[in-house]
Amino acid sequence: MYHHLEPDGAPITPYAIPAGVFATHLEVLRSAGFVTLSFHQLFEVLEGKRKRPAKAAVLTFDDGYESFRTLALPALVAQGMTATVFVVAGAIGGVNHWDLPQGYPRRALMDEVALKEIVAAGMEIGSHGWAHRDLTACTESELAEEFVRSRQEIRDCLGIQADFFAYPYGHYSRSYFPLLERAGYRGAVTIFSDEPTVTHARYAMRRVLAHAGDTAWRFRLKLSPLYLHYVAWRDRKGGRGNAAR
Ligand SMILES: [Zn+2]
Repeated sequence: MYHHLEPDGAPITPYAIPAGVFATHLEVLRSAGFVTLSFHQLFEVLEGKRKRPAKAAVLTFDDGYESFRTLALPALVAQGMTATVFVVAGAIGGVNHWDLPQGYPRRALMDEVALKEIVAAGMEIGSHGWAHRDLTACTESELAEEFVRSRQEIRDCLGIQADFFAYPYGHYSRSYFPLLERAGYRGAVTIFSDEPTVTHARYAMRRVLAHAGDTAWRFRLKLSPLYLHYVAWRDRKGGRGNAAR
């Protein structure tokens, strides 16, 4: 899971990875024999409608930064790979306003034209909610805005169905699962999760954070089944998943 990419040589800021490090990750994936899948494709595999690749990864980018279009997209296209971008539907063409009170840098988000460009290049779009709120602090009507209005906006703006949702800050509750299903989503991704495997609960799929310090060998380690078992064990033991039920 990625957020923002910085041009090589720029100072490293929170939640950012240099473009060169991201290119290294793609090179590691390619040389290790991984193919990338969208969530739609992953679900086709799970439903037996698509052949299961020997090694597959779903790459995700949260928030929908302009840096995805300028830095990540060319690297992905060069490798013949795809990613899923979770956009904040109420901030298309805006900035990461939710980060500013914490003192994080102001970053441009993709506008409608940029999003259409990445869709045309084969990227998948998911919803990251309407206003990037911590859902566990939301009222019922705010939750509806995050789940229903965001999906509606993506449909109106881009003419596509967002079938997958990414919880802002990874905070979620099991009580959201039926709300998401009713809103038309087929799955949702978090960061930490109590679930034993990534796809055990379709509305709480765990992701692995990619860091600026993930060198080729560290990234390779993170791709191993052993590492996935380790994070599953760690999240269950530490009670990090399902912070709010
Ligand atoms: Zn986010």
